Amino acid sequence: MQRTENHKKKQISALLNAFPKQHLMILAGLVTTLLAFLIIPTSDQAEAKRSELPLAIKLLPQQHAELLAKTETPVAPKFEEPAWHLETVKPGDNLSLIFQRAGLSDRALYEFMAANKAASALKRIHPGHKIEFQIEDRQLQALQYSKDPLSTLKFTRNGTSFDSEQLDRQPDLHTAYREATINDSLFMAGKRAQMDANLIMELANIFGWDVDFALDIRQGDSFKVMYQEKFLDGEKLGNGPILAAEFINQGRAYKAVRYEDSKGNVHYYTPEGHTMRKEFLRTPVDFARISSHFNLRRKHPVLNKIRAHKGTDYAAPRGTPIKAAGDGKVIHAGRKGGYGNTVIIQHGQTYKTLYAHLNKFRRGVRSGSRVKQGQIIGYVGSTGLATGPHLHYEFYVNGAVRNPVTVKLPKAKSIAKSELNRFKQQTQPLLANMDGFHQQTLYAQAANTNQQQDNG
Ligand SMILES: [Zn+2]
Repeated sequence: MQRTENHKKKQISALLNAFPKQHLMILAGLVTTLLAFLIIPTSDQAEAKRSELPLAIKLLPQQHAELLAKTETPVAPKFEEPAWHLETVKPGDNLSLIFQRAGLSDRALYEFMAANKAASALKRIHPGHKIEFQIEDRQLQALQYSKDPLSTLKFTRNGTSFDSEQLDRQPDLHTAYREATINDSLFMAGKRAQMDANLIMELANIFGWDVDFALDIRQGDSFKVMYQEKFLDGEKLGNGPILAAEFINQGRAYKAVRYEDSKGNVHYYTPEGHTMRKEFLRTPVDFARISSHFNLRRKHPVLNKIRAHKGTDYAAPRGTPIKAAGDGKVIHAGRKGGYGNTVIIQHGQTYKTLYAHLNKFRRGVRSGSRVKQGQIIGYVGSTGLATGPHLHYEFYVNGAVRNPVTVKLPKAKSIAKSELNRFKQQTQPLLANMDGFHQQTLYAQAANTNQQQDNG
């Protein structure tokens, strides 16, 4: 009759609610005393005490049993599968406490842990994990441990031991769609469209190479995004990846579609198969030699004291063209102390490059202008603190300076010709699907407007 475990719990809380306050406190004291026995469950005496403990619980109220009889089809009790008793791991919990709450002793815990190697997975419990117990005649019959709703490790008693099996479930995937026009910021527009912060960030990352979400956004910019939602038993677990998206920035449309290539690599591409992430040139100046390496403990040749050399120096004749290492946006073009004439380019959200001691800037290269990879931005010189004409080049990843010669550059290649058919086959339906969602939204809006007019 262990199926009543949950009902018992409800009964207890009903019982507690029914007590006047001071009685409740006395009861609390009593429970604490009894708990003290629970914590020392090693001796048989404690075991005995424990079995006496849930006296109040054992008196299964009559009316409850009647209620059950009325609402449930009667089944012969001996064929009934014992009910599962659910415990959720709380902060500060441990297995001993959880087993106690389920009504099992430390000995039962020890026996369980020793019976099957797979049980060691339970040593890594975290708050929110779920453990379900099936107990019959005060003996653990089965246990299910779930880190998340998709993966469950099940243990079933087999004599004195336990068999284990991994039960994994696949979520139901639904395709969701949102679109919005930006009045203030991408974030606010996303919030209004009921997108969570992660989804908005993901969208910003996809278009971050083309659009600067801090500076480029104008009122009237808009986006469409189609993404996966994961459900289990009708309940939403969370979002899957963005499948396709479009961003219109200052009248210019950028489209991106997710594609997993035949080797399993996943990237976002334009509908034509060009990567959304752009590549970098390793060296931004041709016909040059390295005259000074990246060294954070270098003695400065002009200042003659230890000063980090945060970049690589490329010696080249004055006037040698300097190229933008990657697509991006100029965030500084002007004098910058000892750096002299300097260009700084922001590439997507993650990367930044700096070019110093320029003789002069290329016409049109100024703060705010967009540059393409390989485009000339200026010419080698020796402005600022420099002993001779050279390019001083710095590379930043997430704000941290890195050695430009050795830093791992993002690899991003367009779809190979051999894979272009596969790419189109898989991505064109996604883009068509997104258009379909957009049309539906337009119809819905039109219908809404008509209705409002009818009403008015
Ligand atoms: Zn330098």
